[in-house]
Amino acid sequence: MAKEIEIPDIITVRDLATLMEVSPINVIKELMSNGIMVNINQEIDFDTAAIVAEEMGYAPHQFVEESDEDDAPETAWQQIIADEDASDLKRRPPVITMLGHVDHGKTSLLDVIRKANIQEGEAGGITQHIGAYQARHEDNLITFLDTPGHAAFTAMRARGAQATDIAILVVAADDGLMPQTREAIDHARAANVPIVVALNKIDLATARPEHAKQQLSEVGLTPDDWDGDTLVIPVSAKQNLGIDDLLEAILLTADEIDPQANPKGSPIGTVLEAKTERGRGVMTTILVQNGTLKIGDTLLIGQNYGRIKAMYDASGKKVKKAPPSMPVSVSGLNGMPEAGDQFTTVKNEKTARKLVADLQREEEEELLDRRSSMDAFFARLTGSGGDKTLYLIVKADVQGSLEPLVSSLNKIENDEVKIDILHASIGEVSENDIMLASASEAVVVGFNVGIDSAARRSAASHLIDIHTYDIIYHLLEDVEKMVKGMMAPVFEQVVIGRAEVRAVFQIRKIGLIAGCFMRTGEARRNAMARVIRGKRIMYEDKVASLKHHQDDVRQVREGFEFGVNVGTWNDYRENDVIEFYVTRRVDP
Ligand code: GDP
Repeated sequence: MAKEIEIPDIITVRDLATLMEVSPINVIKELMSNGIMVNINQEIDFDTAAIVAEEMGYAPHQFVEESDEDDAPETAWQQIIADEDASDLKRRPPVITMLGHVDHGKTSLLDVIRKANIQEGEAGGITQHIGAYQARHEDNLITFLDTPGHAAFTAMRARGAQATDIAILVVAADDGLMPQTREAIDHARAANVPIVVALNKIDLATARPEHAKQQLSEVGLTPDDWDGDTLVIPVSAKQNLGIDDLLEAILLTADEIDPQANPKGSPIGTVLEAKTERGRGVMTTILVQNGTLKIGDTLLIGQNYGRIKAMYDASGKKVKKAPPSMPVSVSGLNGMPEAGDQFTTVKNEKTARKLVADLQREEEEELLDRRSSMDAFFARLTGSGGDKTLYLIVKADVQGSLEPLVSSLNKIENDEVKIDILHASIGEVSENDIMLASASEAVVVGFNVGIDSAARRSAASHLIDIHTYDIIYHLLEDVEKMVKGMMAPVFEQVVIGRAEVRAVFQIRKIGLIAGCFMRTGEARRNAMARVIRGKRIMYEDKVASLKHHQDDVRQVREGFEFGVNVGTWNDYRENDVIEFYVTRRVDP
């Protein structure tokens, strides 16, 4: 059988010969007989190399470089299950959030889907709205988060949670794309969540579906019937039209993203909402994202914990367990967690208590060295290598200033630092902007706009920087500074002085010391130095000691005599030159 070899896209003749353990001459001959004239250092492509390899008795394969990016989990749920064994993973129902402009019909759509597809309460019982429900469509379950709007969606993401797999963008066919529709698109994109469009209110005489499709195309959501990739489903929540098509589109999209979890893994998930109820204590709605949650399990959610006493599904029915993607309302927690908090399970309440105590201690310590937001921001960005991107949210007073602003901002990026404007719109800086900024580690910049009070509060608690300006130039200048701050620092060596060795002394305990005369510049105790003999650098290290007469000094100026010891060098000769230098950061 032919021996297998892996060949990259491009390879030199020499390297190919080495791979096949043959003489390069033979490879060149083989290439020549195929009509290809090359020399030993020339590069050939995989196809050419493969022909030669086959003829020389090998079975060539193209070597595909594994990129780290492909391996990295892309979405929150992929991160959650990243530790699971692939063979344990099973398909789970997709989790859906409705996004869109106010009054375009998010709640109405959630209601019609809910009514048609789940059995309401026990006979005569009142259905509890628990913040989420599951609908069944042709034997497939779909989980809907019942808190529409991108505020909730992004608030969760800001807390590190992402429950949503697919966003339904609800667009009223009479209104078309409105500011919050555009905002919703940006939020979904920032979260890396696919978008299915529900074109609602098609029952209205004033509906202009084609116009809405045109607008969708303009923002990169070209409908599939216009040769694009976005599923745009005409629906009417009021007349119950197109709902099955919408569910079908969700399942199609789910097929593409293939959401998975390990039903047997350790239970992990997200809090959707929490409230206290008379007689039942804290009721917490949680979405299970991995594992199967059971009655009697002990939940740990931030600093809250408790053994699950009872568990209810969305129709208020008691259930004993909840598999992945199932939303359930549970009782038994000792406190109120917040929407977006992640839960895990622990052995028992005692373990939970200990973990909470540890956590509190850690948080106190963290609080102590929490730095200003800007410092922390840059630390985050410059600390890690790899791709650097400055994420921005841009607000301006009028469209006329927003457009030139965005295009000028985009021009600031360079090879090292990219600029990614997650959202640009007109109007005051709002809480939604802060949520998006927090979820995506972005900076908010505003031109001629105010900051509403909720945004101000939220920015303070999320440590988000908002910078507002009334001169565009100042805004651009500051963003330029941020980009520079993110670039890898460049250092240069600066020679600060040169000295001449005039005598060499042996000093007890210290060893050999060079007695020098400072010719130009100065010597510093905290500098680096090199010992130069003729044209050769003999040695280079930190200054180990610097003395004037018997005293240790920090600095010696031009024209003075002094003693110096460089690193552990002990071979100074008369007439050696000692050059002192420092390394300093150069502004890019
Ligand atoms: P939300 O703010 O996006 O949650 O919108 P709602 O679901 O509250 O709907 C806003 C208004 O639009 C309500 O008065 C609904 O009755 C109405 N509405 C919702 N869907 C439709 C629809 O398909 N057709 C018509 N004609 N009206 C609708």
